[in-house]
Amino acid sequence: MNKGDISAAAREWTLTVKNLTFPIFCQQCRIRLLTDDNGYFCPTCWESSPRIERPFCPICGKPHRAGVGLGTRSNFRCGPCSTQKKPYPYDRVLAAARYDGAIQLAIKRLKFNDKPRIARPLGELLREQAERELDCDAYDYIVPVPLHRVRRRARGFNQAELLAREILPLFSDAVIDTSLVRLRPTHVQSRLHTDKQRKESVRGAFGLSRDANFDKKRVLLIDDVVTTGATIHECATVLKKGGATVVDVLAVALAIPGSDADSADLGRKE
Ligand SMILES: [Zn+2]
Ligand SMILES: [Zn+2]
Repeated sequence: MNKGDISAAAREWTLTVKNLTFPIFCQQCRIRLLTDDNGYFCPTCWESSPRIERPFCPICGKPHRAGVGLGTRSNFRCGPCSTQKKPYPYDRVLAAARYDGAIQLAIKRLKFNDKPRIARPLGELLREQAERELDCDAYDYIVPVPLHRVRRRARGFNQAELLAREILPLFSDAVIDTSLVRLRPTHVQSRLHTDKQRKESVRGAFGLSRDANFDKKRVLLIDDVVTTGATIHECATVLKKGGATVVDVLAVALAIPGSDADSADLGRKE
């Protein structure tokens, strides 16, 4: 047995002992796991959680139905985005996955069960999608969607900031900027029922700190999940008013209307 074999065997043994003492289970299918490397999910659940792949709308990020015989992987605008001239204050939304399955559970664990380690596999999804679909040299600032300071203190971290840190090495010219701030706590978007409630909940909820400088800057706004777009709409409006020329949004997951808004989330604030 050479040195490498011995250390691999020792690692396996440590893992076995750890697992016997503190068994871990996949958070979706409850199968017993041998390692917690992938954020508490088995490879089957993690891999089968639906990703967003081409073709999707390059403006709102929504995936198109896979057309039989379409013969193209080129993106094209969806109906609403092609009929409206300037539909959103942000320039585009890019999401890595649907807000569904293991990825939806992972995002909830990250936020509501305070499991910051899950930011790593979720950040990996973001990184892969950004590498495929974005010009990573084209941004000056990476801006996490902020939490209200009281919420941030209680949670101990801002999940969007953890995700931003995971992907930062991809961006040669960009730095993380936290001068976009949440002025008051707002209800978690997925816990509000109507679009009107969601828009009203975040209206005026964001602002810029005194040292903010977004003049002529290209911004990539990072969020864990885009539910109705009300939050990113408000954030992008503030950033553009602050002088940003481009505001693109990169999110781990996108909720597709009618399929996955989760009413069990009612009442929480962030
Ligand atoms: Zn599983
Ligand atoms: Zn669209």
